[in-house]
Formats: sequence, C-alpha cells, structure tokens
Amino acid sequence: KTALEIRGVQKRFKDFVALQHIDLHLYEGELLCFLGPSGCGKTTLLRLVAGLDEVDEGQIIKNGQDISRLKTEKRRCGIVFQNYALFPNLSISDNIAYGLQGKKWTKPLRQERVSELLSLIGLQGSELKYPLQLSGGQQQRVALARAIAPEPDILLLDEPLSALDARVRLHLRQEIRALQKRLNMPTILVTHDQEEALTLADRIVVMNHGVIEQVDTPEVIYNKPASQFVATFVGQMNLLPAKIQAEDWLYVADKVDVRLKLKHQFIPNTGVLVGFRPESARIVSDDSLVTQGIRLSTYLIAREFLGAKTRLHLSLDPSHAAITDLAERTIQIDVDHAATDFLSIDSQV
Ligand code: ADP
Ligand code: MG
Repeated sequence: KTALEIRGVQKRFKDFVALQHIDLHLYEGELLCFLGPSGCGKTTLLRLVAGLDEVDEGQIIKNGQDISRLKTEKRRCGIVFQNYALFPNLSISDNIAYGLQGKKWTKPLRQERVSELLSLIGLQGSELKYPLQLSGGQQQRVALARAIAPEPDILLLDEPLSALDARVRLHLRQEIRALQKRLNMPTILVTHDQEEALTLADRIVVMNHGVIEQVDTPEVIYNKPASQFVATFVGQMNLLPAKIQAEDWLYVADKVDVRLKLKHQFIPNTGVLVGFRPESARIVSDDSLVTQGIRLSTYLIAREFLGAKTRLHLSLDPSHAAITDLAERTIQIDVDHAATDFLSIDSQV
C-alpha cells in the first residue's frame, strides 16, 4: 500500500532545473533512501515533500490526498536534518515536546509522550539537560524523538548521520533502522553515502542531476545496475570498452581481443561497456586474471592494502606502467586475505 506518491514533480530555481519529472512511490512501513552525489536534488525533493518549498509541476499525494499546496504544519511529516537543529535554549524534554501543540496534547499527555520517547532513544534521565550537554549522537537521537513525537504519517531524514564520527554513525545507523521497523513508519532517508544506503534501505532511489537513474532493492542496485552512473556510483566497477561483433563480443580495450558468447542480442558494430566488480575477478597466474570466464593478461600497476583484502590495480597495457590516476585508468581487483591465525592483543581485564 502506498503511503506517499510523488507524481510528475518538477522544480526549477530560475533557469536551473533542479528536478525533472520525478515519479516515485513510498510504501507503508518502508525505508526508502535517496542516494546520489552532492547537488543532485535529494534535499530539494525532500523539502518539496515536507512543504518547505513548492513544486512547480506535479503532485505530492499522501494517503490518497493531494498535499502539494498544504502548509508544512498540515502535512504531518517528521523531519530531521544533518545539523541536529535542536533549540539550544530549550531543555531536552521541551525540545521533544516542541511539536506537541493543540488540544489533543494536554500537559499530562505531553509529559507521558516525552518520557516514552526518551526511553525509546535510551536517554531517560536527560529531561532537564540542554542540547550542548549532550554528544552529537545523543543530540541526533533527540532530534529524531522530536520528529517522531507528534506521531507523523511520514518521517523525513536529510543526511541525519553525516555530521557524526564514524563509530557513532555506524551505531546510530542500526538504531535508526531498528526504530523505523519498530514504529513501522514510512521513511525517506537522504544520503550521499552508498554504504549507508545499501545497509539501511528497503529500496534505494539513485539520483543524478535531478533525474532518477534507478529505483530498486540494494541487491538489485548492486548486482544489476541500470546505468553506467549507477554501476560506478554504487560500489566499485571496472568498465572495459568493447565492440559487438556478430553474436560475440570483441574487446577493443587497450588492444586486447577477447571473444565472449552473449546472452542477449545486440546490434553488430555498436560500442558497449563490459563491467565487473573488483571482487568478482581472481588472479590465475602471475600476470592474468579471470572474470566471468574471460581471461585477461594484465600488468600490475599498484597494490593497496585494505585490511581484510588487498586491492590490485592492473593494466591491460604495459605502457601504462606510470599511470597516476589509478581509479580512471586501471582495472581494480580485490584479493581476500584468508585469516590464518588469531591475533594476540594486549588488553587489561
Ligand atoms: P543535494 O541535497 O542532492 O546535495 P540539493 O537538492 O540541495 O542537492 O540541490 C540541488 C541543486 O539545486 C543544486 O545545484 C543546488 O545548488 C540547487 N539549489 C538548491 N536550492 C536552491 C535554491 N534555493 N536556489 C537556487 N538553487 C538551489
Ligand atoms: Mg542535501
């Protein structure tokens, strides 16, 4: 069942088209991630849903009702931004209670709701503290509680984790996921971090230049990217230029000829890109790798130790020995390190 539908939405800032004809569904209980590089229009789309900006064209439909022209307060969306945006001069409980306005929220009900939310985010006992007395992660939990407090229909999170330390971020990521599932609240989370989107989302919306490139589950986005942009933005992808020849591929990449039987029909003589992930290739001898049954002779350009694995940068052309822009010009493959032994770590018990 659809909680929110974005239908033919367009947004311009003067001559600049920030969003071109966006069509999208958010389903009940779903966590949808908007993923894309900085400036692709993620925040703009979220602001249109929240009513912080007006659409130029199209509709935003929530639970069957067109809310495109409603004021923010009437849209029943809970919002959290990157930079906490708590009121520094209000206590934690007053911050959380901020949106609890109107007849329904009598004083005892407000107090009850605040303590319920404080225990939900694990900050019982912090009622009388002020935002600056809390860590960044705690402040962001409070911002989340404040957004959820009035029981909104939809939760909107704009890069809620990107201002936090890596460790806190990983922890809060799992908390957001658990909380979202527990409340079963349809949620849109904006991020430019592909790992965050892959771990959190039920479905990912990959955006680029105001256009949706692909909408699907993390598994499909990673394993069956719909465009070159998606393939290279989500995870690492090696791309080799090739040319179709009859029903076979003929690689023309760096003078290498490799024939491969194709699963689909292509038009002969068209140029294509063949992609494979670093983890899908393996080294079969000192100087060649195999992926998808293709064997390529390669030259080692550089070696990066990444802890659990080592990434090799390889070239198909020996004259590339002095390449500097590794990501652009080389094939990357990952070699796993099989754990051979336990480490002994000095620690005081
Ligand atoms: P993202 O959140 O994906 O990084 P934004 O939605 O913030 O991107 O911005 C998308 C594009 O629209 C950017 O090029 C940005 O400069 C432009 N933009 C956003 N808001 C405004 C505005 N109020 N006036 C003019 N341009 C804007
Ligand atoms: Mg943004």
